[in-house]
Amino acid sequence: MNIESSDDLAVSRRSLLSAAVVGAMGTLGGVLPRSAHASPIVLPPLPYGESALDPVISANTLSFHYGKHHMAYVTNLNKLVAGTEFADLPLEKIVQATAGKSDKLAVFNNAAQAWNHTFYWNSLRPAGAGEPPAKLKQLMESSFGSVDACKKELATAATAQFGSGWAWLILDDGKLKVIRTANADTPLTSAARPLLTIDVWEHAYYLDYQNRRADYVNAVLDKLVNWEFAAQNIG
Ligand code: MN
Repeated sequence: MNIESSDDLAVSRRSLLSAAVVGAMGTLGGVLPRSAHASPIVLPPLPYGESALDPVISANTLSFHYGKHHMAYVTNLNKLVAGTEFADLPLEKIVQATAGKSDKLAVFNNAAQAWNHTFYWNSLRPAGAGEPPAKLKQLMESSFGSVDACKKELATAATAQFGSGWAWLILDDGKLKVIRTANADTPLTSAARPLLTIDVWEHAYYLDYQNRRADYVNAVLDKLVNWEFAAQNIG
């Protein structure tokens, strides 16, 4: 899957491994402990400051959502994969290798949530929305009729998702589609290409909007949605 964040994650993993090796050499005189060979998944930095999406999404929400929820998925994943066949795999491969396997559900859930959240942060930007880049706009028009119709599909999917989950804009066989997934499920495990997502777990909006999910979704689509990121993911 050709996704910008894949490279970021890979770089982060390498950086962390290097830091671990340097740290180990510094304290152990160049003798590497076995643990230095592990490559933990790291929490990528937010692409903006915690208050950058205010007032649509408050710094308080981002602090908990990124600093607690997203971090917990990464921390739990590293605990679950330590010493297993997944320990040295990139995040995307862990998601794909555990999808649909009932005995690997905890690994899948934490890995997919770690990946989905990084994709979500990049799906938003301060002073977002506006006119989509030309190639994305053309696909929106050929697939939905107009940019507004595409936004309406996304809003409907995001508000209609029953319980926790995600709304996605995907590219499937040359055509844009809007889908929704429950809990940790992700189009990363399908043949389609994810372009953009909106998190509709309650932790994404409850501090700011309480039960008014539609207000959160519409504000994201009108003010924060990162069409440039979606266009980059078309490839
Ligand atoms: Mn979330």
